Amino acid sequence: MRLEQVHKNETTNLAEEVMARCRKLASFSEDANATRRTFLSPPMRDVHREITGWLQALGVKVRVDAAGNLRAEYPADGSAPRLLIGSHLDTVPNAGAYDGILGVVLAVALLKGLSGRRLPFAIEVVGFSEEEGVRFGTPCIGSRALVGRLDEDLLNAQDSHGVSVRKAITDFGLNPADIGQARLPDNAVGYLEFHIEQGPVLHNLGLPLAGVEAIAGQSRLEFIFVGRSNHAGTTPMNMRFDAVAGAAEWITAVEREAKAVSGLVATVGSVNATPGVANVIAGQTRLSLDVRHREDSVRTHAVENLIHHAEQIAQKRGLSLRRSARMSQPAVAMDSFLNGQIEEAIRRIDCEPHRMVSGAGHDAMIMAEKVPSAMVFLRTPGGISHDPAESVAVEDVEKAIRCGLQLLDQLAASSAWQTRTPRA
Ligand SMILES: [Zn+2]
Repeated sequence: MRLEQVHKNETTNLAEEVMARCRKLASFSEDANATRRTFLSPPMRDVHREITGWLQALGVKVRVDAAGNLRAEYPADGSAPRLLIGSHLDTVPNAGAYDGILGVVLAVALLKGLSGRRLPFAIEVVGFSEEEGVRFGTPCIGSRALVGRLDEDLLNAQDSHGVSVRKAITDFGLNPADIGQARLPDNAVGYLEFHIEQGPVLHNLGLPLAGVEAIAGQSRLEFIFVGRSNHAGTTPMNMRFDAVAGAAEWITAVEREAKAVSGLVATVGSVNATPGVANVIAGQTRLSLDVRHREDSVRTHAVENLIHHAEQIAQKRGLSLRRSARMSQPAVAMDSFLNGQIEEAIRRIDCEPHRMVSGAGHDAMIMAEKVPSAMVFLRTPGGISHDPAESVAVEDVEKAIRCGLQLLDQLAASSAWQTRTPRA
């Protein structure tokens, strides 16, 4: 059925069902009183079984690939191209009920909303096995398999119990030798991910939905200010080499500099003073720095600037400075054609469109390496996520379903994008 033929109370019912299904899936957990579902843990099997039941009721065939991703194809006539829609099924410890899983359950609702109507392209629903990086410290294991980056090194990575990714796959009853069959099919022309925003922007704007233009690049560094430990009572203020005071001056510079650049976020999230005693001037302070921006040049320039500030502050105070880079990940642009279509779909369901940058990483960032990718964010009340208090309004889920069905209608009417091919 085209969107205009879908009754309002039908999408309302679908939205209520999505909410109930997300809450049910949240009960499949490694912990008794909280949601925790890491890569191929036993409750993941229950999640697969549950979602498979919903898809089979729609006449859709389901498989689990060798990386543990749930894959379901809603076919089209003939050798049509394929649009993937999905998100991740794993969670952080003490998780909410919507991060990741909402995007998968919503994809199932879109198939249901089509009521059997065939489109000029197939839809593959994907529930990625791993995105959060909790068990193996490497995020996006599931989507890496689709782009061909679940390699030997990653298969040999071990969790805190010494179990490798390879062993986890075997223990789950899957065959690591089949990883190649998890790769994106040649006829994939797009990847679409619905996800809660996990931040306060849409909540503060009073808007339900946004298209994501880019996923911000990220730099992580460690800084150590080194001074001299001494007695807090006997050392006059002008004879100190206080590593905490120097670090504090730099932390406020980090905040000030980040506020001065549009779209830049910079965070000192970890501060560790040594010896860390009330009556001793700290001889050393170790700090983390996390810098993110949609433009890589802005991010790297900001990092250089903050290093320069740290050096100046250290020199002025007679401290020494050590630093090391921990991570530098470039920004990933989402597909401009799909973004334009998303904006149009949001407008056509009588909502005000908004475009934003994701400060957090997502599977779409990995998928974009091989296939034009796009994301739709749903307003996150209070901006709270990775917490049991994480929520989403049923009205916003209803709007996301309408937006999704509208988008499918638009794509069905557009022939240009269906001829695009995955990047080699
Ligand atoms: Zn997520």
